[in-house]
Amino acid sequence: MNRDLIKPTEKLFIVGGGNVGIIAGYHALQAGIRVVGLCEALPRCGGYKVHEDKLRRLGVPIYTSHSIVSANGKESVSSVTIAEIDRNFEMIQGTEKTFECDTVLIAVGLESVSEFTREAESAGIPVFSAGDAAEIAEASSAMFNGKIAGLKTARYFKPEIKDIPGSWYEKAEILKSHPGPVQELTAPAGEEGIFPVIHCKQEIPCNPCSTVCPEGSIRMQGDPVKGRPIFNGKCQGCMKCLSICPGLAITLVDYRKDKDNPIVFLPYEISNIKIQKDDRITLVDVDGNPLGLFPVLGAKATKESNRTQVVRVRAPKEIAKKAVAFTIQDREVTKPLTRNIPDDQIRDDEVVCLCERVTVGEVRALVKKGVTDINQIKAVTRAGMGPCGAKTCTNLMAQIFRAEKIRQEDMVQNVRRPLYIEVPLGKFADGGQS
Ligand code: SF4
Ligand code: SF4
Repeated sequence: MNRDLIKPTEKLFIVGGGNVGIIAGYHALQAGIRVVGLCEALPRCGGYKVHEDKLRRLGVPIYTSHSIVSANGKESVSSVTIAEIDRNFEMIQGTEKTFECDTVLIAVGLESVSEFTREAESAGIPVFSAGDAAEIAEASSAMFNGKIAGLKTARYFKPEIKDIPGSWYEKAEILKSHPGPVQELTAPAGEEGIFPVIHCKQEIPCNPCSTVCPEGSIRMQGDPVKGRPIFNGKCQGCMKCLSICPGLAITLVDYRKDKDNPIVFLPYEISNIKIQKDDRITLVDVDGNPLGLFPVLGAKATKESNRTQVVRVRAPKEIAKKAVAFTIQDREVTKPLTRNIPDDQIRDDEVVCLCERVTVGEVRALVKKGVTDINQIKAVTRAGMGPCGAKTCTNLMAQIFRAEKIRQEDMVQNVRRPLYIEVPLGKFADGGQS
């Protein structure tokens, strides 16, 4: 879906407000899928604010401090129930909301795929890792760490290769850093000429807006990679900053023809919903609050990217600098149903260990008998003995323990399988010649 914009579903609900969930929601809208909502257990989404704002502005509600209670349906999902949760991640009774949808995207619980790396390290085998094999971080961080790991590997075999510059490690640290706090924005004060309004409220490792400006008028405050961008200087209205921003956080406001009703240039990337002259669109501010209905003056692709269109709207000067985007999704799509289908029990017929087909009921029965050692559960049921190496069932078993009110410190974790690799029998049969 994110690469080819194919449409695997019609109506999606997303669990998880990290960049993966948020960006998947945006790609879903680009693919023509209706996105009913997104819930995040923490009080704030962990993804970048610019990406979160992008989704909210297009009309997707984001429920923070909420978690999924149940995915409902018989043969397939027909709705999802979510509820508000307290500081201890316990559901607050009476806050359930149910939404119609046909797919629930779970974008939480990402874990690094580092078993091999850790086992190799503990066995004293030289190992270099990057991406998810090292840790969970952004794609740009994974790519850059891949470059470092590649060079380290090459140096291992050819020590004469030049050492990795210290600045690379510094950049790698910046790329994987968490986003900074959300700050208030101050739009440029003037009301003449043309200039960009940058709605980027948070320090994140992103800076193309500052490198692309031919006038050198956009600078990063603080760190050159992860500071916050500010405009100060001349603007020739080239639109380069607007089209390059992955967060669609830059608009241009043009007062040259009419100071009271300037033209606002808005970036737009949802090609399945065409926008043309005289369409009426609801402009929204950075948080997705509506600012009013306005006619479109025109829309066309930018020189830099055929995926980004620039939509022109004339708006009163009181709101021109606040407008960032326009809503594309009807409120009806995201409205909760009037009935709730709560189900806070993990059902006994659900499968915990997909490799060995062990059900919740089998594990729960042992937990109820007082078994708190996952190794014993494994010995009795085979849960965790499959080829995935207990990647999935370990987390699911922890949920069953939680549901049965067993504290984490009273559980005994399973022993990890040592590093191994499957060897074809032929390797032994012909003395290792093949
Ligand atoms: S529109 Fe062009 S000149 Fe103006 S700030 Fe953006 S990049 Fe610079
Ligand atoms: S390109 Fe600039 S304005 Fe856009 S998200 Fe990155 S830092 Fe923010």
